[in-house]
Amino acid sequence: MKVVDIRDAVVPIRSEIRNAVIDFSEMTVSAVAIVTDVIRNGEPLVGLGFNSNGRYAQQGILRERMIPRLLGSDPGELLDDERENFDPHRAWRVMMRNEKPGGHGERSVAVGVLDMALWDLVGKVEGKPLCRVFAERYGSGEPDPDVFVYAAGGYYYPGKGIDALQEELRSYRERGYSTVKMKVGGASLARDLRRIEAALEVVGEGEKLAVDANARFGPERALEYARALEPYDLLWYEEPVGPLAFDELARVSRATTTPLATGENLFSLPDARNLIRYGGLDPERDWIQVDPALGYGFVEYLRVLQMLRDEGWSWRRCIPHGGHQMALHVAAGMGLGGNESYPDVFQPFGGFADGEEVEDSRVRIPSAPGIGIEEKAGLHAVFRDLLDG
Ligand code: MG
Repeated sequence: MKVVDIRDAVVPIRSEIRNAVIDFSEMTVSAVAIVTDVIRNGEPLVGLGFNSNGRYAQQGILRERMIPRLLGSDPGELLDDERENFDPHRAWRVMMRNEKPGGHGERSVAVGVLDMALWDLVGKVEGKPLCRVFAERYGSGEPDPDVFVYAAGGYYYPGKGIDALQEELRSYRERGYSTVKMKVGGASLARDLRRIEAALEVVGEGEKLAVDANARFGPERALEYARALEPYDLLWYEEPVGPLAFDELARVSRATTTPLATGENLFSLPDARNLIRYGGLDPERDWIQVDPALGYGFVEYLRVLQMLRDEGWSWRRCIPHGGHQMALHVAAGMGLGGNESYPDVFQPFGGFADGEEVEDSRVRIPSAPGIGIEEKAGLHAVFRDLLDG
């Protein structure tokens, strides 16, 4: 059992949207395919992975460091003790050879892409959906049968007014998402409050609406928004301050009763631990959004989960960023609180298997072996091009 080839491509996920900080018109992701000599149904087993949205493709790091290390390793270094399956934990150590600690940058994204493809292989070798592998190895034994998902949208588009925002949120409701999230911080506070009130007219109550400032604010503006949001009893107020501004986050936390949510831009165990130790978050109130695909993959995410447990946090307080199938498997398999979803943007990488309906903001877990990228035609086509090319 060995890896015989690893291919990668840079694929656009352009969207004509912007949040408070960046626009996504130039966004790309890396897609990788790990080809093995394991034959199933007459075909070699191939593990598929891609990076989550919000960070660009990582072709340089993949081609110069991570892929050569995997391909240059002794085949046994990538297998479990029984040599019956690939071992992403061991592969992780191979990829991180000669990498100094800290300064995680986007190296964590490159490792995460390959980690996803390796886990896809593990599930396919076992013939099980990945959420079941996770639950059996690291969770309660049984994956959750369905997972809470909310529709992330409410972006600022050129010329988009209140009516268009309401129409967008209404369309998520029609597709089964009773809970939605919208951007704030890209307009004046007065304008954002009008947008929030318009959104509440659609979703009905505060606990069905989260807002996301995308780390736009300094401490004073973050506090100003916190005070203004207080009466609406929102589901959460996301990334009010910079991802590493733990003291500022703690100030916001003390000043509000609105739940806070953050962590999508923390890509390592040490950064996540510092958030928990110094960010002033409340384990009974707040939400952790570390994205397993962006942050060195599920191998590192497991370490984050263990740290959270050691610090007294329930894994149900985790709702990963990203809206991709991998995070859905992690959420179901590890018993997290839910998963993000982008019904209209970041295609074909966002979203779940074709035909999977969302009902009352819950989606059923997949049944195909591995991640199930093959069950999402638009996404699978990206990988077919990669393998044919
Ligand atoms: Mg966010």
